[in-house]
Amino acid sequence: MSDKKIAVVTGASRGIGRAIALELARSGAFVIVNYNGSREKAEQVQSLIEAEGGEAVIEQCNVADFKACGEFISSIIKKYVRVDILVNNAGITKDDLVMRMSEEDFSQVIDVNLKGTFNCIRQVSRQMLKQRSGRIINMASVVGVSGNAGQANYAASKAGVIGLTKSVAKELASRGVTVNAIAPGFIETDMTEVLSEKVREATTGMIPMGTFGRPEDVAKAVGFLASDGAGYVTGQVLCVDGGMAM
Ligand code: NAP
Repeated sequence: MSDKKIAVVTGASRGIGRAIALELARSGAFVIVNYNGSREKAEQVQSLIEAEGGEAVIEQCNVADFKACGEFISSIIKKYVRVDILVNNAGITKDDLVMRMSEEDFSQVIDVNLKGTFNCIRQVSRQMLKQRSGRIINMASVVGVSGNAGQANYAASKAGVIGLTKSVAKELASRGVTVNAIAPGFIETDMTEVLSEKVREATTGMIPMGTFGRPEDVAKAVGFLASDGAGYVTGQVLCVDGGMAM
């Protein structure tokens, strides 16, 4: 195994996670590209990284499954000995007004977005404490701070991710492990492609920079928080939102 940093990116087959995997590989990390259902897309991410001279492997794991996460992370530690960077990016939406929202849709979003983040942190934290170093970066959202009509489940999960981030940051700080969250605004991915033209126009009107962001905008912020230069930054929520939340 090379002396590259070992980076795990959940939900790296598409969208923001894909851009994060590429960014970390370009900065010299060995990237574990996690996916749940999109194996072919994950393979494409791996191929792209390799074509650029980087190193990556793909690993299937449903982050909502506590036991599967345990096996996923411990197999990585067994193979690569350490985990330097964990990016909890995997996420889903199941939007509806709260009076119509099913229990299943509420639970599924919490299970993937919030519990999935806990599951991976839970498995990786002991190793990072042992190493006395590590970077954990969790994907929150501006709606986790502001709330959003039609997204009670999603906003609750992302508010939870922010609370989880700050709590774990306090637990791990003395051992050189930083834990931060990124709160993207509206970013052009499959997740936002489903928005109607009307909603898209109204949303764009709320963004001072007047446009949706790109996955690469979020990936660059992750690259910073994962870099040596961000070693004294912990427990923070960095908005990447074109000024939307200010
Ligand atoms: P996306 O394009 O829909 O991609 C979602 C990714 O998450 C896919 O790679 C998917 O993998 C993976 N995933 C979903 N469920 C999973 C599970 N149970 N286990 C493992 N992986 C799973 O979404 P995105 O827009 O890139 O969003 C990425 C993150 O940013 C999410 O946490 C999202 O909430 C957050 N975010 C996005 C926006 C935005 O405007 N796009 C704004 C704020 C925050 P498979 O396809 O392999 O299943």
